[in-house]
Amino acid sequence: MSDEQGFSTRAIHAGQPADASTGAVSVPIYQVSTYKQDGIGGFRGGYEYSRSANPTRTALEECFAALEGGSRGFAFASGLAGQDTLVRSLLVPGDHVVVPSDAYGGTYRYFNKVARPQGIEHSIARIADVDAVRAAIVPGRTKLVWVETPTNPLLGVADIAAIAEIAHEAGAVLVVDNTFASAYLQNPLALGADVVTHSTTKYSGGHSDVVGGMVVTARQISVAGFEDAEDRIAFHQNSIGGVAGPFDSWLTLRGLKTLAVRMERHCDNAEKVVDFLTGHDGVSQVYYPGLPSHVNHEVAARQMKRFGGMVSFRLKKGEDAAVKACAAVQLWTLGESLGGVESLIEHPARMTHASVAGTELEVPADLIRLSVGIEDVDDLIEDLREALDIHA
Ligand SMILES: *Cc1c(COP(=O)(O)O)cnc(C)c1O
Repeated sequence: MSDEQGFSTRAIHAGQPADASTGAVSVPIYQVSTYKQDGIGGFRGGYEYSRSANPTRTALEECFAALEGGSRGFAFASGLAGQDTLVRSLLVPGDHVVVPSDAYGGTYRYFNKVARPQGIEHSIARIADVDAVRAAIVPGRTKLVWVETPTNPLLGVADIAAIAEIAHEAGAVLVVDNTFASAYLQNPLALGADVVTHSTTKYSGGHSDVVGGMVVTARQISVAGFEDAEDRIAFHQNSIGGVAGPFDSWLTLRGLKTLAVRMERHCDNAEKVVDFLTGHDGVSQVYYPGLPSHVNHEVAARQMKRFGGMVSFRLKKGEDAAVKACAAVQLWTLGESLGGVESLIEHPARMTHASVAGTELEVPADLIRLSVGIEDVDDLIEDLREALDIHA
């Protein structure tokens, strides 16, 4: 499948030829663990055992690699399983990582409580600030710079191309967690990143019905010592075994087919919700990369197709009002996660980011995060208006 084909053409066809034996146009769910060999070692299509490879998972991995413009995709049981496999593939004890100051809570918890006790140190940098990232690099020891953009939950934007240069100069690989933007709105590999990760649980799957992760490697990794990153990840994916199962792979693959149309609608709706929030008296601040007042709006405009479906905002009346507003909405679902067709609302300080309380990553207590779904936006705004008029 050529890179020249459009995004949705690749989403619907890459890695998904009609089934050779039946012509089935949807890739079958190969719910199987092992494969008949034609004589010892005579694997059909290379399939031997489903931890190593499974045809439904292969279709998803090939499709995702095509969407990110990468060389190879690796599907995992969750976003964090993919991140863990990636870190173990690329780093050894004594290495150092730069982690963003408003990373996904689970990502920070992973580096702080899992990687660090195993000898992988980290420093935290505000990734919206290129100089802060440069300053956080420990010469000779930093092997990986982790970037999330836009960030969760404050929608910070990192300049991927500028940070790629800094990382590469220091001999470190740049990993970009592209979960919030999705492969439709942003392709970090084209901007110089070496590896892209996703929680496919979010926009990629898009229907709040599957948990999964994806790692995609760049065609060319120029950082000395990491040229074989793809082989190392393939080895670790099989050796650790945190792979995506066939049904989960199939659900994610089905989600990807509509990613472009869903993202356009998420963006349309988010822009209107942002308009409403910026005009509401009870709101003290709105975080959205599409706002000209956003500190890195220019960077976001350069590296993203549009600005996404995630919006965060703060209430003048503080934490109590934020908690009450989250409980008062009817149509918005109070819940964690994001990126599904249905709109979600949450209070990061007590929910998704409770694990970073008391650390450098603590989030404001009066903050509300929205994952704007693809319902009729007038209904979404009306529901928010009712809740905010009472509590904000
Ligand atoms: C959800 C999320 C993750 C973790 O993915 P899981 O699928 O929950 O393991 C990582 N990064 C970001 C930005 C996320 O939103």
